[in-house]
Amino acid sequence: MDDIFLDKNENPFDIPESIKYQLLEYIKNTAMNRYPEKGLPHLLEKIGNFLGLNGENIIAGNGSDELLNLIIGNAKGDIVINTPTFEMYSFYAKNFDYNTINIPLNDDFSIDTDSILSKKNAKLIILCSPNNPTGNIIKRSDIEKVLSMNIPTILDCAYLDFSGEDYIDLIDDYDNLIILRTFSKAFSMAGFRVGYGIANESMAKKLRGKQSPFYLNLLSSKMAEIMLDNYSIVQEHVKYIIDERERVYRNIKDLSYPSHANFLLLKEDIYDYMRKNGVYVRKLPFMENKSRLTIGKREENDIAIKLIEDYIQSRE
Ligand SMILES: *Cc1c(COP(=O)(O)O)cnc(C)c1O
Repeated sequence: MDDIFLDKNENPFDIPESIKYQLLEYIKNTAMNRYPEKGLPHLLEKIGNFLGLNGENIIAGNGSDELLNLIIGNAKGDIVINTPTFEMYSFYAKNFDYNTINIPLNDDFSIDTDSILSKKNAKLIILCSPNNPTGNIIKRSDIEKVLSMNIPTILDCAYLDFSGEDYIDLIDDYDNLIILRTFSKAFSMAGFRVGYGIANESMAKKLRGKQSPFYLNLLSSKMAEIMLDNYSIVQEHVKYIIDERERVYRNIKDLSYPSHANFLLLKEDIYDYMRKNGVYVRKLPFMENKSRLTIGKREENDIAIKLIEDYIQSRE
């Protein structure tokens, strides 16, 4: 049997062939010797409209990772992160020789707002909701407390589609807020590398001003537009994944924390055990004795559940 990959929080569903043909059609009819439209205003407008905003509120990039790199690179000072969280924040900070202030999450994985509030000299604060790898969402009131410090703040919402918890309206009240989202997870487009930021117009404009004019290639930006036109398929897949997440959680509760994302944080490091049995889960470098399981297709999840049930039994 082929190995099963439940390690990178990817969408288990590829983009349907009928939708891929729309990109092929575009490829046939598009001059590839020309640069893309400068700044990609069409894409930004389309993302903006999808969110009930306009293009002025949006910045897009080669994955939200590129936007993290851009924003962190411009922080020019200490960066507050809430650990354990997405490893790329400290990776980029280190690349730029900036110090990260690691504020440990509380025991229930909520953020320690009092400690964050005490870091008045930080140049950037990064929040992640739902947080990777803990899977919980941050309380809105906690986010607002942090935003009230008036320090530039990234709210990474890569998994928002699986939580239903939206914070977009906060950009009207807080011009220091940059919400990051991605086409990599819910939209099944990890291979194309498209992410975007949402902010009030002046913040978004400031950030766009730091980008090169041709920041995404023709195909990635077109594919993002095509998927926005086919949002119903995204919704179908998201619903499937949420239903499966709840089913997997019910079955392996003893070993798993609940989650608002497309993955479950496991209470032990079962990487070696799962790998021996053909299933890849994620080892967590900054969380010893834990691991992370991405929600896959039903039949993949069945195999993972069976293995984990056996594991739990063998311990008892
Ligand atoms: C997967 C993930 C991203 C997405 O990265 P892309 O570069 O857009 O693929 C961003 N933030 C977090 C927390 C993630 O887990």
